[in-house]
Amino acid sequence: MKITPLASALLAAGFALAADPAFADVAPPQDVPFNGTLQIKVDATDLAHRIFRVHETIPAQAGPLTLLYPQWLPGNHSPTGPIDKLAGLVITANGKTLPWTRDPLNVYAFHVDVPAGASSVEATFQYLTPQDTKQGRVVMTPEMLNLQWNAVTLYPAGYYASRIKAQASVTYPAGWQAGTALEVASTSGDTVSYKPIDYDDLVDSPVYAGKYFKRLDLDPGAKAPVHMDLVADEAKYLEVKPEQLQYFRNLVQQMYKMYGAHHYDHYDFLVSLSDKMSGNGLEHHRSSEDGTSADFFTEWKKNALARDLFSHEFNHSWDGKYRRGADLATPSFNVPMSDTLLWVYEGQTQFWGQVMAARSGLWDADQAHDMWAYTAATYDKGRPGLASWRNVQDTTNDPIIAQRRPLPYRNYQASEDYYSAGQMIWLDVDGKLRELSGNKKNIDNFGKAFFGMDNGEWNVNPYTFEDVVKTLNDIQPYDWKSYLRTRLDGHGSLIGGVASHGWKLVYTDKPSDAVKAVEARRHFTDLTYSVGVSIGKDGNIGDVLWDGPAFKAGLSPGMQIVAVNGKEYSSDAIKDAVTAAAKDKSAPIELLVKNFDEYQTLHVAYHDGLKYPHLERDKGKPDHLAELLKAR
Ligand SMILES: [Zn+2]
Repeated sequence: MKITPLASALLAAGFALAADPAFADVAPPQDVPFNGTLQIKVDATDLAHRIFRVHETIPAQAGPLTLLYPQWLPGNHSPTGPIDKLAGLVITANGKTLPWTRDPLNVYAFHVDVPAGASSVEATFQYLTPQDTKQGRVVMTPEMLNLQWNAVTLYPAGYYASRIKAQASVTYPAGWQAGTALEVASTSGDTVSYKPIDYDDLVDSPVYAGKYFKRLDLDPGAKAPVHMDLVADEAKYLEVKPEQLQYFRNLVQQMYKMYGAHHYDHYDFLVSLSDKMSGNGLEHHRSSEDGTSADFFTEWKKNALARDLFSHEFNHSWDGKYRRGADLATPSFNVPMSDTLLWVYEGQTQFWGQVMAARSGLWDADQAHDMWAYTAATYDKGRPGLASWRNVQDTTNDPIIAQRRPLPYRNYQASEDYYSAGQMIWLDVDGKLRELSGNKKNIDNFGKAFFGMDNGEWNVNPYTFEDVVKTLNDIQPYDWKSYLRTRLDGHGSLIGGVASHGWKLVYTDKPSDAVKAVEARRHFTDLTYSVGVSIGKDGNIGDVLWDGPAFKAGLSPGMQIVAVNGKEYSSDAIKDAVTAAAKDKSAPIELLVKNFDEYQTLHVAYHDGLKYPHLERDKGKPDHLAELLKAR
């Protein structure tokens, strides 16, 4: 791993901090080789208790030793290592138990004294996986498991994670099969030993294993194979139709056509088809964790909206894993990350995820248009917080601020908007490139130039904001710095890309298929752009648009709507009331709401009818969106 100026500065600070007794007594990572290899043995057979049991041998010498549990997790971009679930830690050397102490100022660091004559320590502990989703992501079921190495390993402080070798083995439940980017060294019964690998790459190479398993070849005959490894709740969910397989094969080829290079020697989509194990979407260099519903393939139409999960996570192998914001490319998992460039990492990946879903055929043109309309509306009227007090750049802090906890007023607080606002900014950039170059240059040129170098190379290649600007300028000279900073730091429109691609964002009283699907999937009624509220099951209010009609009427996210105009609440009842109030301006929208144990009637002053976003063609302009979404 290359090291960046900012990480060096952090290290320098680390040296200074370590010398000060007011701060944690943990040696900062250094770019020196670690002598020996971590031996990690994981017993993954206790499905009933949902426990991973770990035995780890760590080469060591006499004297003080600090063992770290990974805290700052790549892909999460936040200090969310699940240390609350590490239990039963016992450390021994030469058969004798060593007392350990946890650093009082860094709860992820364990200190021991290694006795004279010992050349290693043994650490045993359990990782107690969540028993239900309130405790975190469920990763073990009777049929499958998701093993992430950061959760089941300790590593010595004082080294870059890339300078520590690790050799892992896992004992799986009898008869299970496993998918992972790790390469198998040997198999004995149900125990699989993997080839030694750098510790940072081990953490980047999780395992999905299961009772029901299938492996699909997404690029037959390729020198760098791409596979999809499926685990499922039941064997019947593993049925993949030839046309479905073809879309994923198209995806691989469409990515290669655009980028012209890839950054792995092999790649595995690790896919769980489950209603028991929690969903997931986590990128890695040579694999991705793609957790989706059990019926993803068997109810293909119903799950259309989930399909860009795969194009999104695959894109991260280029954008995020190979090329990474310099301040995010940290030398170990216990050095703080800085997330300032996530609008490239996640924003452009959100962009390509949706474009490639269309180019590969995973989405048809109508599905793609609906989803772009849905996103454009969010940044037209759905984020009053971005129009007033926050900007897109500031939302790159949200993985650290909110850590994906539910928020009281998401639309006003804004959260992780660098994803979808970033997507709109990159659409805007594509439009500007086309405009300035007479449609000779576009975002594909940027993709290839910025992410498509050094085929096969997969050491991290970090970049800065200036590098982004320079690449854009090399393609098409312009004041790209101001262009980007205005959108990232300001409060103006982010959806100029819709018009520059020959379309208009309009609102009608009919929901698009995408809105209907989102409503069905999340069990809510989306009235964001009319009365300014989204309502969950049984009338429980979700988000209330800041200063919108519902907000002004006194509604808040903690309330439950019990009745609409004197009738029991239903999704249809409130939609009918909104429609009636538009036809007859004296018709009320009267809501009986429950707030704790109190009931009250609130009157919503709104007479403009139901409103749902759509894209409508602007016939006066060329259709650049069609060009963007067309297969190469
Ligand atoms: Zn992502």
